[in-house]
Amino acid sequence: MRMVSLLFHDVFVASPRESGFQSPAADRYKLPVEEFDAQLEGLANTQPLWPLVITVDDGGLSYYTIVADRLEARGWRGHCFIPTEVIGRRGFLTPGLIRELDARGHVIGSHSASHPARLSACTADEIRDEWSRSRQMLEDLLGHAVVIGSVPGGYYARRVATGAREAGLEVLFTSQPATSVRHEGAVEVRGRFTIRCGHPRDAARRLVLPAPWTRFAAWASWNAKGLVKPLLGSSYIRVAEWIHAR
Ligand SMILES: [Zn+2]
Repeated sequence: MRMVSLLFHDVFVASPRESGFQSPAADRYKLPVEEFDAQLEGLANTQPLWPLVITVDDGGLSYYTIVADRLEARGWRGHCFIPTEVIGRRGFLTPGLIRELDARGHVIGSHSASHPARLSACTADEIRDEWSRSRQMLEDLLGHAVVIGSVPGGYYARRVATGAREAGLEVLFTSQPATSVRHEGAVEVRGRFTIRCGHPRDAARRLVLPAPWTRFAAWASWNAKGLVKPLLGSSYIRVAEWIHAR
């Protein structure tokens, strides 16, 4: 099974301070609303090769004030991933807004509880606790099962999936730019392509086109950051693996 999952963060009208985490690192991912509109416009004018999933991390208020209406105007719904400890804080979604988004058809998922700086470096107990606390809080809030999560910071490792499974999650989105869906035990692991501030305005459209070049560039650039070096061997093997995976 293949799918293209896109990863967005907050969207803002005048200032990145309007929504979500407040730091220069967080701001680099936040999109001005006109850039977000351009990305959606590109997607609307494309016939995606595979099922398309739009995901938004971090639980910022802008999912409610900006993102949801724009997706719904096109007949779409998104996946909204929330680090549950920020719920109700300034610039983040409130319990009432999360319930409303859920009722409007958006998929609410866990983005851990505390958004650890590096989840993959936490102990197995800590990882399981991050997933189970956040899952429990969202289930209490929504009154139904929550089985989807996304990995904060993209710090994925097998133990992150193991902890998610022990906490009852069934699907985990990472930040590895890949279309393949794989299984880590009982957990389905899905890659995602990040769209961030300053990317070309047709980046989303090109990521879902049949031609693989934009996806390959995203994969190569992510790989160059060394996040997968412990997992994969030489460049040759990595490229071979990518060709195989697509
Ligand atoms: Zn995050």
